[in-house]
Amino acid sequence: MRIREDKCVGCGACIPYCPVSSIVRDGGKAAVDEDECVDCGVCLRADICPAEAIFMPDECFEYPRAIRMQFSDPGVQHPNFKSWGRGTEEAKTNDVTGKFGRGEYGLLLEFGRPGTGTRLSEIEKVTTVIRNMGLDILKDNPLYGLLEEDLSGRFKPEYLNEKILSGILEFRFGEDELEEALGKLIPLLKDLDTVVSVGLVTRFADDASIPVIGKLAKMGLAVRPNAKINVGLGRPLVDR
Ligand code: SF4
Ligand code: SF4
Repeated sequence: MRIREDKCVGCGACIPYCPVSSIVRDGGKAAVDEDECVDCGVCLRADICPAEAIFMPDECFEYPRAIRMQFSDPGVQHPNFKSWGRGTEEAKTNDVTGKFGRGEYGLLLEFGRPGTGTRLSEIEKVTTVIRNMGLDILKDNPLYGLLEEDLSGRFKPEYLNEKILSGILEFRFGEDELEEALGKLIPLLKDLDTVVSVGLVTRFADDASIPVIGKLAKMGLAVRPNAKINVGLGRPLVDR
């Protein structure tokens, strides 16, 4: 995003709209720190500029910069993956879709929310470790398309410095790999220059209990009981 200096009257109305604080005072005007801006479009869509000084320059639609809006503006579609917004679908409806079956877990790592955004280079610190552990990063996820094809877990170098509002990584592992996977990944997340939300996807047991909660407690990991629940009404049942 960019602000036309010749039009800006310096009212400051746009500044609080930026979720990553990339609109700054510049003398008597406002300016966008374009390296920090994630091209989410919020300041433009808010339609609050009295001088119509805010605009999206053509460079924002060119690669590699174009991935910023694809991972930051829910109204922009990923061109190859054809999903809207940040990414992965239906993790919350696993008991209906059976995406993660019995005997395995899904792990979702959401980088950058709330309010910080993330560089792809921070996510790469995790994807390389995941691949070193021999775990598969799920392909039905827009981040997957930015990775090198050599399965190293590295992103294509042109994307590394791009900053996005948030991105979700998703991968699966067996029940017997829980301790190793979380034991390696959780300490790694604490050193990243962004925030990460961790979600573990599992199935209810036949008696409606969630056995993994006890296993996580033994590892010193608390589970938030107020998790969002989506029952997946309208989705076809899958038997896995
Ligand atoms: S496009 Fe988004 S990140 Fe960039 S200046 Fe506007 S509100 Fe901030
Ligand atoms: S709202 Fe418009 S005129 Fe006011 S500071 Fe922002 S860009 Fe400048």
